[in-house]
Amino acid sequence: MSKTPVTTRFAPSPTGTLHVGNIRTALHNWLLAKRSGGRFLLRIDDTDVARSREEHVVAIRADLAWLGLHPEREERQSARFAIYQAAFDRLVAAGRLYRCYETAQELDLKRKVLLGRGLPPIYDRGALALTEADHAAKAAAGEAPHWRFLMDHETPIEWVDGIRGPQHFDPRQMSDPVVRRADGSWLYMLPSVIDDIEMGVTEVLRGEDHVSNTATQVQMFTALGAPVPNFAHEALLTGAEGKLSKRLGSLGVAEMRESGIEPEALIALLARLGTSDPVDAALDADALAESFDLGRFGRAPARFDDAELARVNAAVIHRLPFARVAERLPEGMGEAAWEAIRPNLSTVAEAAEWWRVVTGPIAAPEFDEETRAFLDQATTEAAALDWSLDPWTALTGVLKETTGRKGKALFLPLRQALTGMDHGPDMKALLPLIGRDEAVRRLG
Ligand code: GLU
Repeated sequence: MSKTPVTTRFAPSPTGTLHVGNIRTALHNWLLAKRSGGRFLLRIDDTDVARSREEHVVAIRADLAWLGLHPEREERQSARFAIYQAAFDRLVAAGRLYRCYETAQELDLKRKVLLGRGLPPIYDRGALALTEADHAAKAAAGEAPHWRFLMDHETPIEWVDGIRGPQHFDPRQMSDPVVRRADGSWLYMLPSVIDDIEMGVTEVLRGEDHVSNTATQVQMFTALGAPVPNFAHEALLTGAEGKLSKRLGSLGVAEMRESGIEPEALIALLARLGTSDPVDAALDADALAESFDLGRFGRAPARFDDAELARVNAAVIHRLPFARVAERLPEGMGEAAWEAIRPNLSTVAEAAEWWRVVTGPIAAPEFDEETRAFLDQATTEAAALDWSLDPWTALTGVLKETTGRKGKALFLPLRQALTGMDHGPDMKALLPLIGRDEAVRRLG
């Protein structure tokens, strides 16, 4: 796709919370708009009043804000029924929408008969044969019609998909879709097209589960006299072991946030998943946008692995500047402490555990006599040191010289006595944070 400014949209149905797959779609639409300096819109697909929930709308907004994916405009389909009605009237006048009365059972039976004969279960357009007198009789009997879109059988459906390449559908192999129910409510298909036209959407990027909808919608754009936008359909996400597991597939943004995942990690991973490009633990989504290219995405399902997310998350945290995390750190923990501790973290919350190691109290192990003697000497040296520069290098330097200890025998007892642990952040950075008095107490 070109770099002339584009308009993209993310169109979730507020029937649940956003999961990994939706977030990926939202992100890719955001990146696509961003890279061209274009517009990213949020469209809440809430025509299904019974299944849509306000709490989900609120959560979707909050999730996008947490991820930093700010839409330029938000629209709700439930507020746009008058716009749909006007377009509907035009299509009725043009003969592209027609009234039908078959019940679900009748349609099911028709489908079964066709399948039984080895034929594709395409709607037979039986209702097209009805006369105005028939319609009047139905109305008199209190039977309201549902409406179908009349597919143009003469024009083959073609588009060059941004990910899947050239696509071709034979409209004769497709049923005329129902666009409006007998109670006047709207199905997804037509309002989406009307919105894409009215909002100037130039790129429709969504999951490949929408490919057959696109085939129908291409004709709706044309029927409404509008240019067909660019379409791209992404391969779906799968889990590490095939199908996206229930847990991963339903993992909501809120749960991820609570389990310590940083938005930057999710964004870095989902921006690249499905391409062969390496995942860069980038902190700046704008940089990701610059190199974002739909052409890099393969048609094979992309594997989402929470272990990989955890790895990227750690890599992101190891680079997060103090200012980005300050308010989530324990009282008193400053920039130097953050930088000392950061390389040991897999979540920001773990910083508190390491900060407790700095502030104490800590429980050091029991040492044997020889080690005890070594630590006593360390206590004396630590008390005598100049702490203003690099006390760890100075302390270990003098102890190495005077005791002949080196490597593990030199470093481990010191670490254990000073932190109560066998491993942890670089002692060179940690020791100044512990400070002279406390260090001397711990060693002694
Ligand atoms: N509400 C639809 C969905 O969530 C939108 C599809 C589209 O992007 O057009 O699947």
